[in-house]
Amino acid sequence: MNKTVIGDNRVFVLFIILLILGVSLVWMFFSPTQYAPTSANEIQLHDREGIYYVNNQMDVLADGDDQWTLADVQSPPAAGQFQPASGKSAFGLTAGTYWIRTTVRNQSSLEQWVIRLNNSVIEKFDMYLINEKSMGTEQSSIIEKADEHFSSYYIHLPAENLVTIYIRTVLNGSMIIPIELMDNQTFLGKLKSEYIFFGIYYGFVLLMAAYMLSMYMFNRVTAYLYYSLYIVCFSISQMVWNGLLQELLGADSRLLVFLLNCFGNYEGIDYFFFISCLWFGLLFLSKILQLEIYAPRMLIIYRILNIMSPLVLIASLFHFPGYAILAILYESMFAILLIVSTYWSVYRGSLVARYVVLATIPFLGLATPTILNTYSLMQESFLTHYGFQLGSIAEYIMFSIALSYQLGQSRTDKENALQQIIINQNIQQTRNELLQNISHDIRSPLTIVQGGIRAMMLGIEIEPGQKDKFLNTIYDRILYINTFIDDLFELSHLEQSRENAALETIHFADWIKHEFDSFASTIQLAGLQYESSISVDPQAVITINPHEIRRVLSNLVHNACKFSSIGGTVHLHASSSNGEVVVYIEDRGVGIASEHLPSIFNRAYKVDQTTSSNGSGLGLAIAKEIIERHNGLIWVESEPGKGSRFYFKLSEKYK
Ligand code: ADP
Repeated sequence: MNKTVIGDNRVFVLFIILLILGVSLVWMFFSPTQYAPTSANEIQLHDREGIYYVNNQMDVLADGDDQWTLADVQSPPAAGQFQPASGKSAFGLTAGTYWIRTTVRNQSSLEQWVIRLNNSVIEKFDMYLINEKSMGTEQSSIIEKADEHFSSYYIHLPAENLVTIYIRTVLNGSMIIPIELMDNQTFLGKLKSEYIFFGIYYGFVLLMAAYMLSMYMFNRVTAYLYYSLYIVCFSISQMVWNGLLQELLGADSRLLVFLLNCFGNYEGIDYFFFISCLWFGLLFLSKILQLEIYAPRMLIIYRILNIMSPLVLIASLFHFPGYAILAILYESMFAILLIVSTYWSVYRGSLVARYVVLATIPFLGLATPTILNTYSLMQESFLTHYGFQLGSIAEYIMFSIALSYQLGQSRTDKENALQQIIINQNIQQTRNELLQNISHDIRSPLTIVQGGIRAMMLGIEIEPGQKDKFLNTIYDRILYINTFIDDLFELSHLEQSRENAALETIHFADWIKHEFDSFASTIQLAGLQYESSISVDPQAVITINPHEIRRVLSNLVHNACKFSSIGGTVHLHASSSNGEVVVYIEDRGVGIASEHLPSIFNRAYKVDQTTSSNGSGLGLAIAKEIIERHNGLIWVESEPGKGSRFYFKLSEKYK
């Protein structure tokens, strides 16, 4: 993405609108719950009906003291305390034991069904099936797992029987438990599409992490390292949440057992990596947002969080009491820092912060349903289940663009700095040369003036005829010094004030004719022939500073006279075509050798350095400066012994 693209406010706002629209589309597409609510008080299974969402017809009982047995919850008073879930899948934010009760009538031709507890961090659960006809009880221990780690179990539901299912779950954190019931074929189909989704998602994540890491290796920009660690930690926490880590490692794997020993349970592992991911995210953001420049006040929150990060991690590792509150505080401060500092930085003109804003829109937009679901404010759906994953894809893409922009930026900064050094060196060199030239140009006439005055003071005898000549020379030299200083002043004035305030729009044909005529006498007084030719469109209109362009003409005409022999011709020409006017001043004088041509527009450059009396060496530099201020072009064609032609070109449209 071009660096100026989102620097433009309208484009930036357009991107924001597009992203919000994109997020809304994803919401519309994925959030409708796949499960239609029913009013029946039992689940009736039919052939090829797809997935039954148990939460629509189940009752929940919080067993705060973990005291009840199956027999207790089947009879009063516990049995009467069950509350209908009414489709909700989240029941509280505290750890504890919960009983779930649902009734199923199998009216299909199938007897083997799959029940899935869609929460991979459930600590422990027991399931009891009570067949109303036989009054037999089947316990979880004899239920076969349908899939190794996705908390999915085969249950046997005899046809036309009413079966009551009791599930006892132990959760360490928030009680989120979407339960699905489906036939084996539907289950396998769902599993397959989930594997494809995870395959694509984690494949992409791996690519992003590897890309960021390789960018770090090649460029040694630590922001890349932090971001790749952020991606890795976020993915591990998501893998635990999705049950994929358990799936990949195998429940008995040494690493998983080790992790469980360290963090107590799956939720502990999830938490540890999630907080680590926030920490790396924090380090990453502080690197790219350049808070010290754009939001210095936010640095305090950043430092507090930076100190808090390892503390929260240690607290979660050792399950300190109240660590959950510390973690929630940490997460909230992180969110405030992220939102306030990025939006403030955008306000202060940071381009990188704009990328951060663009990255957070899809992430927050798609993670929100999961959060709403946690608080029971949104029904279980694909979006609430995988919102974090969908959001993170968009976020990774935006941040990788932001980082490559930042890298490009720091490269350009370095190149610019290098170029500036070279320019500074050149300026220094030119200044030294200029000073040498100036001191030479002023010293030689001054020496003559000084010598002359001293001779007079000493009363040295001068022949009467020579006296006038002598005084004339002194006067000439003083005049020269005066003109030189005037020219120097004018040039430096032109160079300093780039703004051309005195612009006028004029009819070029009339104006140039008048100017040419005014030079006729100057040329003739110099003992030369004056010629002119004008073929300018009478309609041609041009916006110039007439005083400055007159100065250019005057400098060129004076040079033409100065470098011609008596009796020669000076030709002034003006023409217009294709929206441009071209003027040239031609003489048939001494001409300029080709080796001098590239330098004659430089300040204080003279072909013959000894002829200080003939000019300041600044006339052409002034002319060039003026023409360039008018966005025009000045150049020369010359041949030694034959003469020179000085051109300048201005655009009619120049304003
Ligand atoms: P100067 O005051 O010395 O004329 P300019 O900047 O006007 O300073 O010109 C720089 C040098 O370019 C002159 O010293 C001269 O050597 C050369 N030059 C300029 N105009 C002409 C011309 N029409 N014919 C030959 N040489 C010229």
